Amino acid sequence: MNRKLLEQHRRDLEGAVAGVFSDATAGDHHDPGELTLSGLGGCTRRAALQLAGHDPSDDDSHREQRASHLGRAIHDWFLPRLAAKLGRELTLVEQDVILPIRGLYIRGRFDLATLAIGGGLLLDLKTYGYDQSDPAHLPSRARLMQIWGYALGLRVQGHPIEMVAILPMSRIHGATDGLWLAEFGPREEALVDARVRDLLHHARAPFFAPRDGHRGPGLDRECDNCPFRSECWPGAQPAQAAPVRSDADIVNHGLRHAEAAAQEGRWKEEKAYHAAALAKTTPATYEADGYTVEIVATGGGRRLNQGEAKALLAGNGLPIPMTTDRESRRAIVKRRPLG
Ligand code: SF4
Repeated sequence: MNRKLLEQHRRDLEGAVAGVFSDATAGDHHDPGELTLSGLGGCTRRAALQLAGHDPSDDDSHREQRASHLGRAIHDWFLPRLAAKLGRELTLVEQDVILPIRGLYIRGRFDLATLAIGGGLLLDLKTYGYDQSDPAHLPSRARLMQIWGYALGLRVQGHPIEMVAILPMSRIHGATDGLWLAEFGPREEALVDARVRDLLHHARAPFFAPRDGHRGPGLDRECDNCPFRSECWPGAQPAQAAPVRSDADIVNHGLRHAEAAAQEGRWKEEKAYHAAALAKTTPATYEADGYTVEIVATGGGRRLNQGEAKALLAGNGLPIPMTTDRESRRAIVKRRPLG
């Protein structure tokens, strides 16, 4: 076997594969500084920077963005076929839409709108991998604002959209569990309007706009792909290491602290759920779909029974040893009325 030749072929092939993806990124001519409907409900600071016309600090035109291109390929293959099943003559597939709102014209590209199944239905296909959100969860603000923005834009164009649907599809095995459907009415329209009003407010001072709990490059997918990441996180420091110099810094940390505290309970529940699912599995190393997970047994050790220890001390007339909590801070956030 000619090892040198094999290695040469491997390098050539790997280079060609990477080239397919990076060429696709380079050929994707969207302006990262423009707020589009897909970013309407995403990071508030990012959207505020875009609305303020801030120049992007990070150029991603050379990156491979493999998951994004694979997702696009699935859209291109799947949506026309779905339209054909639903009734092609009453179905629009992957078309541009513009939402005129509060003096802005926010562009987007919706996946599928149809009158074929009664009432106007707008569908957004979301492909995901194992490293992305659980499709069983309710749609995030980002997803809701995106599809509501499309629906509102289509209504303005005269299309009678009454229902919206988000169809998650696994990029691994094509599963579509978690289809979400809801009515689209005046309440949703008002929420889109309020979001745009909020963003316009933040666009006056975009670097003070909340980061919505995003944790910075290297720790957060949205930050990793954000065109403002270097300026938003100078030196890509985690927030804990960032200097606190001004009232704005304190407000920023206070907001994020309050957000994190609000999320903590939810994550504890999530952890307990998955721990319960794993409780009866055999400790071993498992492999699937490019991941290796080692399940180890924990617990079973001895620890202090605090209740009994206290009772024992009290029963023997001994004082219960106490210590003083380390001083810390908690943030209570109040929102100023929007001007
Ligand atoms: S780097 Fe992260 S926190 Fe900052 S604007 Fe971008 S997405 Fe938001």
